[in-house]
Amino acid sequence: MPAGLAAELSELIADPNRVLTARPVLERLSHDFYWYSPVLRRQLADKNGEVAVQPVSVAEVLAVLRFAGEHETPVTARGAGTGNYGQCVPLQGGIVLDLSLMDKLEEITPDGVAVCQPGVRLAVLETEARKQGWELRMYPSTLVKATVGGFLAGGIGSVTHGGLRDFDNVRAFEVVTMEEVPRVVLHEGAAVHEILHAWGTNGVLTRIWFALAPAVEWTQLTAAFDTYEHAFRFTRAIAEGTEWTKRLATVFEWPIPSFFTPVKQVVREGKSLALLMIATTQAETLRSAAEAAGGEVTFTGEFTGPRTQPLLSDYTWNHTTLWAMKADPAFTYLQCGFSPDNCEEQFRLLRARYGDEILFHIEFMKNGDSMVIPGAIPIVRFTTEERLNEMIAYCREIGVFVANPHVNYLEDSGRFRADNIQLLAKQKYDPRGLLNPGKMISFRKEVATR
Ligand SMILES: Cc1cc2nc3c(=O)[nH]c(=O)nc-3n(C[C@H](O)[C@H](O)[C@H](O)COP(=O)(O)OP(=O)(O)OC[C@H]3O[C@@H](n4cnc5c(N)ncnc54)[C@H](O)[C@@H]3O)c2cc1C
Repeated sequence: MPAGLAAELSELIADPNRVLTARPVLERLSHDFYWYSPVLRRQLADKNGEVAVQPVSVAEVLAVLRFAGEHETPVTARGAGTGNYGQCVPLQGGIVLDLSLMDKLEEITPDGVAVCQPGVRLAVLETEARKQGWELRMYPSTLVKATVGGFLAGGIGSVTHGGLRDFDNVRAFEVVTMEEVPRVVLHEGAAVHEILHAWGTNGVLTRIWFALAPAVEWTQLTAAFDTYEHAFRFTRAIAEGTEWTKRLATVFEWPIPSFFTPVKQVVREGKSLALLMIATTQAETLRSAAEAAGGEVTFTGEFTGPRTQPLLSDYTWNHTTLWAMKADPAFTYLQCGFSPDNCEEQFRLLRARYGDEILFHIEFMKNGDSMVIPGAIPIVRFTTEERLNEMIAYCREIGVFVANPHVNYLEDSGRFRADNIQLLAKQKYDPRGLLNPGKMISFRKEVATR
């Protein structure tokens, strides 16, 4: 970017202190948790934006996008930078659009919809919602840091309320386009799917209507089982059983629990661990069920919000991988969906072929057909990229879905839509390909698909 452009940008932003050019700041704002992947680590470490801008209003977002368009400069949106795929790493320099200061929670409607700006932290929303009798439908382990906008562009789902695409979880949002004259477009109902899970490649979310659920009093419970199979079957029964009100249903194969050093008290040497967040009214029944299934209940404790101590969700989802990598930096991970019909056979095949090169970590999730599936973030011992790719190919061969976290583009990350509506939206809203370029590889500037 020519040197004068950053100075020109400052004139578009009410406070020039929100236009950042210091190298260490740019390096920080240009990266996320891509380093979980040894493959992405090599590819992305030296990718940086040339200037970062922190807008506080839609008018400023519009001005930055108009300016970027005029100068053919890429723009990469950023929330809190907790993505794992290098989603917010600018591959072609340009402007990092840090939306974390657009963090106003406008209202929670009487029917439980949060209306907010994209930079609102999920934990702030959870805390405010609980004061009004509501809570987040999805409970990502990064809720303390992650923003609503980043979650909608790149997050996953939940065991009770499904994924972002399901059950009207995302009601609507406003999107700023990168057309010749950028504008704000309201997407409601089915139209949200054009932009959801698109990593900021086809529009910038500036106002969001996000559905909440009635608040529940939750209890965290862990139970240790002699074998992974026992822990899995027990947790699966709870996850699938409609009589159970749950928020998290997680299984860790031994030795994964041994990595959770701050909560040693919930771990039993050599045993696999089930971790559940269950309605407090059902906690005692769950304890009995765990014991009847041969488990030892090692912890129960009330969940009182994101400041709960210990907060056991800090060990779930991709925090599990973080603890594993702390214990041994040679670990990395995969993001999988096992088949509800023959997952145990899939576990057996993977174990037979890879031994303890793969360690099972299950996060049960509901899909849009209300079927609970064993989602998984297995820990993988990394040796070579070839071996990793061979493992991914074998998973797919035996019917295990893999959202490949070792690539940096949407098409292989598991959330690209086969009906191409995200691509069509990019052609419509970003015909010059300036939004987060390189992350939607099927996009071609010249070619229209219909
Ligand atoms: C330790 C750890 C644990 C994790 N656990 C979970 C988990 O439990 N569940 C889960 O779903 N994910 C999890 N993740 C992944 C990540 O936290 C989520 O995807 C998170 O929601 C991203 O939010 P963010 O604000 O950090 O977004 P960022 O990482 O900043 O951005 C994510 C993507 O969204 C785009 N983006 C950001 N803001 C906007 C906007 N306003 N408009 C358009 N595009 C935008 C960015 O360009 C980028 O492509 C985990 C990651 C880590 C490192």
